[in-house]
Amino acid sequence: MGAASLESIPAAHVPEIAFAGRSNAGKSSLVNALTGRKTLARVSDTPGRTRQLNFFRLDDRMMLADLPGYGFARASKEDAARWTELVFAYLRGRPNLKRTILLIDSRRGLLKNDIEVMALLDRAAVSYQLVLTKADKLKPAELTEVESAVLAESIRHGAAHPVVLATSSLSGLGIPELRAELAALAST
Ligand code: GDP
Repeated sequence: MGAASLESIPAAHVPEIAFAGRSNAGKSSLVNALTGRKTLARVSDTPGRTRQLNFFRLDDRMMLADLPGYGFARASKEDAARWTELVFAYLRGRPNLKRTILLIDSRRGLLKNDIEVMALLDRAAVSYQLVLTKADKLKPAELTEVESAVLAESIRHGAAHPVVLATSSLSGLGIPELRAELAALAST
């Protein structure tokens, strides 16, 4: 189900994992790869249609929360402020939230607004982890380089889990590992 405001979000009964990322980071593709359900998350949302949270319930054991994408070139200051307000309120009001997965396009690495979102996550005091997407697009040496850079930044953030996982929804790289990690978090 989708929720454009926090009044209509589902009750916090089961462990929850949230997914955040710049628009086009590969979030919908990753959620689909993790769940094996091709039609679960819309791929390539357009600006304006994404300003809502989408919730996916998995087997009554776990909830995935798909946070709206950020970093649209056409987003106004007001759009960005609304995004921050909605996401911060969500993060602060979700006692069942086990971890937030922040997706980073491995071809781009961390950009300014990714680091701003990390600061927001620090401020909300929620546990989060950086996951690289589209790893199939890089050569192994390039991937190692971006992994080190992202890890170095995440170590500077108090609430960040100091591990960076590289994934590809296309090749399946890192998907079983991430799925296992999330399943383990859901059972704690
Ligand atoms: P979202 O906006 O973050 O939900 O991103 P999408 O899942 O819609 O993906 C954005 C674009 O990146 C689409 O064209 C996808 O086909 C492409 N993409 C997503 N994941 C991968 C991946 O693992 N490898 C490659 N090569 N392309 C991907």
